[in-house]
Amino acid sequence: MTYTTRTFVKMRTILCILILFMPVSVWLQTMQIGVLRNQKTTKIEIKVVRGSYKVIGDDFTAAELEAGQSIVLETNTKNRVRTTMKGQVLGNFNKVIIRGTLKGDILELKSISPSAKVCEYHGDLVVTNPLSDLKLINHVSMEHYLSGVVECEGGTGHTETYYMVQAIMSRTYALKYIDKHKNDGFQLCDQVHCQAYHHRQMRTPLINQAVTQTDGMVMVDEKNRLIDAFFYANCGGETCDASHVWNTSIPYLKPFKDTFCIKTAQARWSKKIPKQDWVNFLVNNYDYPIYDSVYREKIFHFVQENRLAFFHGPELGIPLRDIRHEFKLKSTFFSCYEHEDHVILEGFGYGHGVGLCQEGAMEMARRGYHFTQILRYYFPGIIIRVLEKSDYFQHVEKSPEDF
Ligand SMILES: [Zn+2]
Ligand SMILES: [Zn+2]
Repeated sequence: MTYTTRTFVKMRTILCILILFMPVSVWLQTMQIGVLRNQKTTKIEIKVVRGSYKVIGDDFTAAELEAGQSIVLETNTKNRVRTTMKGQVLGNFNKVIIRGTLKGDILELKSISPSAKVCEYHGDLVVTNPLSDLKLINHVSMEHYLSGVVECEGGTGHTETYYMVQAIMSRTYALKYIDKHKNDGFQLCDQVHCQAYHHRQMRTPLINQAVTQTDGMVMVDEKNRLIDAFFYANCGGETCDASHVWNTSIPYLKPFKDTFCIKTAQARWSKKIPKQDWVNFLVNNYDYPIYDSVYREKIFHFVQENRLAFFHGPELGIPLRDIRHEFKLKSTFFSCYEHEDHVILEGFGYGHGVGLCQEGAMEMARRGYHFTQILRYYFPGIIIRVLEKSDYFQHVEKSPEDF
């Protein structure tokens, strides 16, 4: 063999190994999302809304469903899924796959135990009973997943540009954290722990357009790594350094003054807390030096003109994020003063403040900024790349040995 032929054969072998070990879902660009993860579902009705589906119980077709037809799945004591249709038992299976025939097919999930509101999904559903409740995994195209996420995370009634911004952030997040629930047997959950995906896109068709128009677009840093595309409702006029929240500094998540959000709905808040609760929290948890007359004076008085990380300086070791968590505050960006038996907090913004400010981005979109300008404003220095579907694998930052 010549050197060139040997190299070619070697390359081909490596490529074959890569393809063999590549998760099928990434290759096919199908996401596996754990749904109804906010509850322990033990009985559920699944109805076809559009299209037709096959019900496959342990590799055999147990039934075929047309629009309007439904099956009921429930746990049984042997970790199987009891499957019934019109009261007739189809079987007790280890795994039930409800597989659609066309891409636009829609299923409706109605949890019976516990009782919950109906939600619709595109794609297929795989149901097992590994412990004592049903594990429901929605196998869904990236496009349909993102449309649902953008509607759940971004809300309705916004411009197409804003939805494009949200779609790129959500795609970047999904690919960066594609292994977040590897140990649970799926990729991402449907809760805010990953990204809210409570149903398919239902009310805002404009979102589908935004997802299609930004097809494959993600944000990467100067080393071509997918970025942490964090976002929140409103920064209150200044974004927050990532280190205030997660103790780690990230170049594209640095604080800056944001003038686009200061007149919006969530820009300001206030809260009244009994003085005793305030004192108890600070003294009992952080040994606030109440015996020192200077600090005693300051316990109800604190001013933040710019965002700070600590209450009265790092020397006391009281992170504002802990105060936010304890008193369920909308943000850490607040000042306070005393009034009778209470301490009054006057605050700005809603959310952790790191990354993109949704209300600021919405305002920029309304004023005609391009989606790339909005993303670069909130994530300075990032690069927007268009990934081919087959490129997704390269951008999950792994070598083949990791599989
Ligand atoms: Zn999650
Ligand atoms: Zn803002």
